Amino acid sequence: MKKKQGFNTKLIHGGLHDESMGSAVMPIYQTSTFRFNDADHGAALFAGEGEGYIYSRLGNPTIEDLERTMAELENGYGGISAASGMGAVNVVYFALLEKGAHVLSHNAIYGAARSIMENFYSKYGVEYTYIDMSDINNVIKNIKPNTKLIYTETPANPTMDVTDLEALCKIAKEKGIAVCVDNTFCSPYLQNPIDFGADIVLHSMTKSINGHADIVAGMLVAKDEAMYKRLRTVMTNIGCNMDPTQAFMVRRGLKTLSLRIEKAQENAQKVAEFLDAHPKVKWVKYPGLKSFPQYELAQKQMRGSGSMMAFELEGGLKAGKILMDNVQLCLLAVSLGGIETLIQHPASMTHSKVSKEKQIEAGITEGLVRLSVGIENAEDIIADLDNALSKI
Ligand SMILES: *Cc1c(COP(=O)(O)O)cnc(C)c1O
Repeated sequence: MKKKQGFNTKLIHGGLHDESMGSAVMPIYQTSTFRFNDADHGAALFAGEGEGYIYSRLGNPTIEDLERTMAELENGYGGISAASGMGAVNVVYFALLEKGAHVLSHNAIYGAARSIMENFYSKYGVEYTYIDMSDINNVIKNIKPNTKLIYTETPANPTMDVTDLEALCKIAKEKGIAVCVDNTFCSPYLQNPIDFGADIVLHSMTKSINGHADIVAGMLVAKDEAMYKRLRTVMTNIGCNMDPTQAFMVRRGLKTLSLRIEKAQENAQKVAEFLDAHPKVKWVKYPGLKSFPQYELAQKQMRGSGSMMAFELEGGLKAGKILMDNVQLCLLAVSLGGIETLIQHPASMTHSKVSKEKQIEAGITEGLVRLSVGIENAEDIIADLDNALSKI
């Protein structure tokens, strides 16, 4: 029996192996279609039997390499890649919801994952409730007889709210409701939702998995075969499939995931401590600070504190704009989890399309700043923030 390999070994050696030409890495199979050996071979592949590929929307070796690696890293049955994280979100909604079905979701999830539900799926008769899942009692209170999906993101975007995954999955299992967890903020290096009972793990691989701010991509990992088939059928029919070159790039970035996250979170801890002690900063939410409201829960279900944090400035919207206009090293940009430090102001940027009322309900205050710490020298990131904060 093959010995269970460690996380870093899986990062390097996991996935599909193609030894036909002796290449050290899976090559880019940049082809739309595949030749069958003969009529029987073609027939067998269409029947879901036999070895080989049919057409790249349905499957491709370079894409399969990435899918298998992600399934191994998330302790799941299989991976389904998508053109983007939002492609993956739509596959989940499409596969699990229908007219009259209800989805229960955390209120501070990725903005587009919420707005597409409110603005599009609702038109087809899907019902939704957005609640604060950092209090598990809200989940118990809001489950309905027609709830088919519980969707959360932990830590959430941008408030850093943590959902207790073990408690959530236990409740859902008792009621036979599927759970999908957006694990983008943590990556499989820091958190494995399937280990707590989740049915689907979702990733925007645009973020820390690819890690180099040069690719947009998404992935779902299903816990079991039945869920895997359900999701794959939807992905291939919607056609939000990944491209082989995209898969190759993400697989390449993925190899250094552990090293990048270790360095970024070491920097993040220093930056969080600096901000926490700064007079222009009201509070900092970072899972590695003792003052983090859900410190114990975060330490229990995450293997580290990650590189994302949110902080509130003294001086609201105006102070937020001054900070954004005065950083020089930190890139004023959305996205996260890359090797470069990114800073953004949700009230005027990512969440500006969310109504004021919903912003407040989701904890998005006017002086809230979201920071994704990169792998530069920590002193340089701190010096840049210190200089920009002095202008407020
Ligand atoms: C970016 C992001 C998404 C959407 O992913 P895309 O790759 O941009 O489509 C979903 N969830 C979270 C938490 C994200 O940060």
